[in-house]
Amino acid sequence: MSNSDLLPGLIPDRVCGSCVSCCSFFTIAELNKPAGSLCRHSRSGGGCDIYDERPRACRIFFCAWRCWNEVPEDWRPDKTGFVLGGRLMPRRFLSVTTDPLLPESWRAEPYFSQLKIWARQAAGMLSEVVVFSGKRVILLRPESEVDFGEVAADEVLIQDPDGHVAKVKRNDPRVTTAAPPPDLR
Ligand code: SF4
Ligand code: SF4
Repeated sequence: MSNSDLLPGLIPDRVCGSCVSCCSFFTIAELNKPAGSLCRHSRSGGGCDIYDERPRACRIFFCAWRCWNEVPEDWRPDKTGFVLGGRLMPRRFLSVTTDPLLPESWRAEPYFSQLKIWARQAAGMLSEVVVFSGKRVILLRPESEVDFGEVAADEVLIQDPDGHVAKVKRNDPRVTTAAPPPDLR
């Protein structure tokens, strides 16, 4: 992402710098880029070679470190080994997407303890903390973890009216009535 973006909602003194985590960790369908491979348009040292023409998925995404001031200053994703997406709010996810090469990065301290605090807060506001740990999806709840394993091509995550996340088949009738899966990119 660009260092010069000063869109409303971004924290002014936080810039991507040399971080290219979101250009590496996520699948970007428009570019046929798999998760865990650095985008071919990523510049050495940070930035994007096709910034003005980058796909929509890239245009709409900024990680939580850049726009949610509850994320500590020293949690830039190239240091933590995971990208936080979204923020705590009713019927929304706080997503944690790890570097596929470091799927346990979120369990290190001080990260894990803070994620548990957010999991407790989420439980009180119809929200959840969802960890994309390599290929596995894990719900981090205040007193437990729910390991969904891999989400297959014919499966999808939904959020029910109580804010709980479930893994269902794409043809499940709840897919059309429930909240959409987390929009990570
Ligand atoms: S993960 Fe966040 S800090 Fe890193 S490049 Fe993407 S938006 Fe910038
Ligand atoms: S197109 Fe640019 S912003 Fe998008 S993933 Fe590639 S390098 Fe990053």
